[in-house]
Amino acid sequence: MRTEVLSNMENCFGYIDENYKRICFDMEEAKAKYRKLHEEISLMAVTKTVPPEAVNHAISCGIQLLGENRVQEYTSKKDFYDTSASVHFIGHLQTNKVKYIIEDMDLIQSVDSIRLAAEINRHAERIGKQQQILAEVNIGGEASKSGVCPEMLIEFLEEVAKMPNIRVKGLMTIPPPGENEKFLCKMQQLYLDISSKNMDNIDMDVLSMGMSGDYAKAIQYGSTLVRIGTGLFGARKYK
Ligand SMILES: *Cc1c(COP(=O)(O)O)cnc(C)c1O
Repeated sequence: MRTEVLSNMENCFGYIDENYKRICFDMEEAKAKYRKLHEEISLMAVTKTVPPEAVNHAISCGIQLLGENRVQEYTSKKDFYDTSASVHFIGHLQTNKVKYIIEDMDLIQSVDSIRLAAEINRHAERIGKQQQILAEVNIGGEASKSGVCPEMLIEFLEEVAKMPNIRVKGLMTIPPPGENEKFLCKMQQLYLDISSKNMDNIDMDVLSMGMSGDYAKAIQYGSTLVRIGTGLFGARKYK
């Protein structure tokens, strides 16, 4: 029994090794083609549904950044994680759950309302932290998705910039499936527009876009951080 579990785990580790190498190769290739030499592009491993052993294996391959979607899943897994990687929150975050994750997150990427930002600011102040965040943008204007709509983004950023315990570091998006190149391009435009405004207390250092299906394209359109789940760990059994 024990040997069987181990050999399954080893198969799974070999699979992650190969995926990791391929993703790094693809990223380098896209970067060489479309980006400047000094630009850095981070690779995040998205851990939803993935057991901590596999997450730790990805860290041993070279992953330095984890992306967490669900508060409860994260809190049940975090004690088993290798703590050398930094952790970002990327899932929809309810205001009443901010308190469970705020101490651990280097960046909360999925901030999509003033109410959520205010709650993050309140807890950050309580624990004496300046929490870095990204504004999540609903670039396709999809009713089913969270995110600030592009037309409201400046106003949103101006409000959040007033909150002393929050620092906006950039933007995050999940483009609609299908026409995603058009939206990657639109997102890059928006990011560059906002960068050029040099808004007070707002940094545009991070453009988080690109997942397993479109990370090379996202790099073409200026992404600084790609978030990979299935491409690294394989298909998820549930969402
Ligand atoms: C699941 C998820 C990803 C990764 O998606 P894959 O297609 O599995 O690579 C990236 N970003 C967010 C916000 C996610 O929820």
